[in-house]
Amino acid sequence: MTSTAKYIFVTGGVTSSLGKGIIAASLAKLLQAQGYRVTIQKLDPYINVDPGTLNPYEHGECYVTEDGAETDLDLGHYERFLNVPTSQANNVTTGRIYQSVIQKERRGEFLGKTVQVVPHITDEIKERIQILGNSGDYDIIITEIGGTVGDIESLPYVEAVRQLRWDLGENNGIVIHLTLVPYLAAAGELKTKPTQHSVKTLMESGVQADVLVCRTEHDLPSDIRRKLALFCNVREEAVIQSIDASTIYDVPNLMLKEGLDKVVLKKLGLQSDTPDINRWNEFLTRLKNPKTEITIGLIGKYVELQDSYKSILEAFIHAGAANEVKVNVESVHSEYINKDNVDLKLGHLDGILVAPGFGERGIEGKIDAVQYVRENNVPYFGICLGMQMAVIEFARNVLGLKDADSTEMNANTSNPVIDLMEDQKTITDKGGTMRLGAWDCDLKLGSTVRDIYKSEHISERHRHRYEFNSKYKEAIETAGMKATGLNPDTGLVEIVEIPEHPWFVGVQYHPEYKSTVANPHPLFVAFVKAALNHKKKTSSARMAQK
Ligand code: GLN
Repeated sequence: MTSTAKYIFVTGGVTSSLGKGIIAASLAKLLQAQGYRVTIQKLDPYINVDPGTLNPYEHGECYVTEDGAETDLDLGHYERFLNVPTSQANNVTTGRIYQSVIQKERRGEFLGKTVQVVPHITDEIKERIQILGNSGDYDIIITEIGGTVGDIESLPYVEAVRQLRWDLGENNGIVIHLTLVPYLAAAGELKTKPTQHSVKTLMESGVQADVLVCRTEHDLPSDIRRKLALFCNVREEAVIQSIDASTIYDVPNLMLKEGLDKVVLKKLGLQSDTPDINRWNEFLTRLKNPKTEITIGLIGKYVELQDSYKSILEAFIHAGAANEVKVNVESVHSEYINKDNVDLKLGHLDGILVAPGFGERGIEGKIDAVQYVRENNVPYFGICLGMQMAVIEFARNVLGLKDADSTEMNANTSNPVIDLMEDQKTITDKGGTMRLGAWDCDLKLGSTVRDIYKSEHISERHRHRYEFNSKYKEAIETAGMKATGLNPDTGLVEIVEIPEHPWFVGVQYHPEYKSTVANPHPLFVAFVKAALNHKKKTSSARMAQK
């Protein structure tokens, strides 16, 4: 089938971290709001087959799709903006490209030819880019090329884009180049030279940018826009400013004001209309006009980096807007929590979330935190490892199984309340081998979660190797922690809650991956509400004491 889809390639110049993902997602939002079926794909020029094996410190959170792909966190932005699920095909790395080409070579598919970067690697890249277009599900594919032009590792991607533009023909593939226009305070001037150089670097590879999106801290005056247009071979209307915004959710409106959608659609030979972003703007109004605020403690071991818990932080923004509450998230490093300081560290917080994670570092602090919130009726939300910690804490301190543990942390515990899943026991490879992607879950009648989801059956995304050990289910339930969500096929415990507690929910899956602007996740919405109630209750108790 020949594709009728149109392609927009987004490249980056001058420096990394300019926010290509947000620009791509914002443009996609504006196109979607005019009736186009849009998806976004990210090409990452590193040799890891996927980011599943990358340390979040290096590369931020690993995002998981419905079909179980471990992907770049930009895919999270795409889903949060578009409210359309992404898949394996939406994230491709150099590692995956080479793996696939080498496998073909081993199968003898190249018929004795010398296998080379051009054409074999570039052909594989072109094929991967067109998978989404050929599916017939989309009118427009936005392909974001990771890294910065001029990097050695980006070259095959830029070459693939050059070839594809020829193959696709005029009006079917365009290039948006994202650059930085720095402001030199000493000279009091915005500087265009870095942009000129990066556009030239792109041209050396035979690719002319059609649109320039310029990140800037100050408005670009018309003489600067004219200069950029003249030196970079683009029309003045195609010089788009992307000024720093207080929230990423402002960027679609900023791009609308600059006419990015119009320029792009004109270049693609498609009709443009006024985008209908009323619902988006209603969300923004709620986000920007909170009636009150709360502070949630996020307990994890990656507290220094925003990106490590990206989807959780964004889910709080969605849930805060839904409740008209500003949610401040305070990072608390679990390694520094102990029984003696837990009150000091957590006493002022309105709710506690123990984050997902791997390995034993900081585990005891997480368990102390759970004990504190359980005993003091502070709303608790445990995600994945956070749910496992809640089970361990309960087994140790309520059931009295002093050495209860996860076999991930202590392989020799006599009470493995969290244990390796049966089908994980023979697996030794680390990449792509966890329990991944969407799994069904049945919710128990009368449970808090059933009430929150307003549904009996749900499906949520997973990423773990260990599970609640069902041998302990009866004892744990009798003591007051209930298993309220079960996998219908395997009986695996997916959710625990403590009905006696105002709000204590632990989930084995990752609800944060499914929270979007259009559909804030119900568990986050309910947790924020519970934290708000807790705050009201504790402040009126304090008032009464005075
Ligand atoms: N390390 C735990 C497991 O593999 C939890 C994983 C997570 O929090 N994503 O089961």
